[in-house]
Amino acid sequence: MSIPVAPPEAFAAPAPHVAVVGGGPAGLMAAEVLAAGGASVDLFDAMPSVGRKFLLAGKGGLNLTHGEPFERFVERYGTRRADLEPLLAAFGPAQLRDWAQGLGISTFVGSSGRVFPTDLKAAPLLRRWLHRLRVGGVRFHTRHRWLGWAEADVNADATGRRLRFATPQGESLVDADAVVLALGGASWARLGSDGAWVDPLAACGVSVAPLQPSNCGFHVGRPAADGTLAAGWTEYFRTRFAGAPLKNVALSLEGEGGAAWQSGEFVVTEHGVEGSLVYALSGPARERIARDGRATLSLDLLPAHAAEQVSAEVARPRGSRSLGTHLKSRLGLAGVKSALLHELLPRSVIDDPALLAAAIKALPLTLSQARPIDEAISTAGGVRFEALRPGLMLDALPGVFCAGEMLDWEAPTGGYLLSACFASGVAAALGARQFLQTSRPIARADGSAPPTRAARGGF
Ligand SMILES: Cc1cc2nc3c(=O)[nH]c(=O)nc-3n(C[C@H](O)[C@H](O)[C@H](O)COP(=O)(O)OP(=O)(O)OC[C@H]3O[C@@H](n4cnc5c(N)ncnc54)[C@H](O)[C@@H]3O)c2cc1C
Repeated sequence: MSIPVAPPEAFAAPAPHVAVVGGGPAGLMAAEVLAAGGASVDLFDAMPSVGRKFLLAGKGGLNLTHGEPFERFVERYGTRRADLEPLLAAFGPAQLRDWAQGLGISTFVGSSGRVFPTDLKAAPLLRRWLHRLRVGGVRFHTRHRWLGWAEADVNADATGRRLRFATPQGESLVDADAVVLALGGASWARLGSDGAWVDPLAACGVSVAPLQPSNCGFHVGRPAADGTLAAGWTEYFRTRFAGAPLKNVALSLEGEGGAAWQSGEFVVTEHGVEGSLVYALSGPARERIARDGRATLSLDLLPAHAAEQVSAEVARPRGSRSLGTHLKSRLGLAGVKSALLHELLPRSVIDDPALLAAAIKALPLTLSQARPIDEAISTAGGVRFEALRPGLMLDALPGVFCAGEMLDWEAPTGGYLLSACFASGVAAALGARQFLQTSRPIARADGSAPPTRAARGGF
C-alpha cells in the first residue's frame, strides 16, 4: 500500500487516542492511516452502518478516479486547485489505484478515461476495507451522532477534545487527543450526511462557506416576451419527454470570456434538466443564477455538424414535406431534440431557415434554479481552507482536523470527488499524526495527564 504508514517517530506509549467522526471514504481513509501509524482509533458514525453514500456511488458504477494526466486532473478543482494539488500529489489517482489493488480490487480505465473497479461495484471494496480496518485495530461505533463539543472543551488551549454524541443509550462524552471530522456534505441526508455539523463548528469560530448543491439538476424557465420566466416545461413537452435523454449534444454557459463547450448527454426531467453534461456546468450556472436570477445555456443539438452544413440543409427546399420530416431526413433531428426546438423557440424563428439553423447550433436553454441540495451528487461550500492550518487542522480548534466533502471545494463527476475525499483523508490523518507527535510530549511535560485518558474508559 502506498499510504505512508510508518510514523517518522513511533508514538510514546500509551498510543494517542484519535476519534474519527464520519465513516465515509474520507473518514475511513483517515482511520486507516492513523491506525497504521500506531494511534488508537475509534470511528464514530451517525448511521447504523458506515459508507452508505460510497455504496450508493457504486450503484451506477463506482468511478474511483480519473486516468488523465495529473496536470489536467488537478485543473478540475478550479479555484481550489492550489489547496488540493499538494494533497493529490501525495495521494492521487495512481496511489488510489495501488491502494485498491492492495485490497485485491483491480481497476481499469474506461474509454472516457474514468477509472472503475473491474466489477464496477463499491460493496466488495468496502467489505474488504472494513475487514482490514478492524484487523488493524480500528473500533467502530455506529449510531453515534456527533453533536459538538462538551461545554468545557471549546477552549482553543485544551490539549485534547471532548466530543458529545447522541447514541441510542443517551448522550455520551468521548475524549480524544486529536479528532478527524469527515462528516460529508449535505446531500442525500438519508444516507447520513445532513450538514448539521455546520452550527457546532461555526459556533467555535470556524469559517464555513454556505453549503450549496453541486453536480445537481436545475429547473428550467421559458423566457416570455416581457422578460419574465415561465416556470418549467409546457405540459405537452413535460408529459411526453420527461425522462428522455439528449445524447451527443454540447452545452456551454456563455460568459464574459466566451463560451466553453462541453459535449456529452443530459436528461429532460419533470422540472428541467439533469445529468452529466448539466452537472459539469453546475458550479458556474449556480453562481450565474445567484448573480442574475437565471443562467442561459447554449445547447448545440448537432455538435458533429458544422454550422454551414446545418444552414445548407435547413434551407434546402422541402417541397410538401413537413419541417419535422425535413429535419429528420436531412439532419437526423427527431424525437426530444426536435421537440425541444418547438418548446423553446418562437414561431418566427422556427419559420426562418437561417434563424432556425443558428438555433439548432446554439439553442438558448434558461435555468432558473438549482434543484434542492438533498438531491445533488455533491455539495459545494464547507469549511474554508482559510480556516485550516497545514495538515487540515482547524485554526480555531487545535487538534481537530477536517477531511472530505465537508471542505470547501467542488469538482465535476468523473472520479474527482472520491479522489479528493481519499486524498484529504490521508492528509488530515498525517496532519493529526504530526500534531500528536509534537504536541503530546509538550502536553505532558508538566506532569498533567491529557484529559483524554480519564474519560476514555468506555472505549
Ligand atoms: C448518487 C451518487 C453517486 C456518486 N458517484 C460517485 C462516483 O462514482 N465517483 C465519485 O468520485 N463520487 C461519487 N459520488 C460522490 C461521493 O460519493 C462523495 O463525494 C463521497 O462519498 C464523500 O465522502 P465523505 O467521506 O466526505 O462523506 P460521506 O461519504 O458523505 O460520509 C460522511 C459520513 O459522515 C457521517 N455523519 C454525518 N454527520 C454526522 C454526525 N453529526 N455524526 C456522526 N456521523 C455523521 C455520515 O453518516 C456518513 O457516513 C456520488 C454521490 C452520489 C450521491
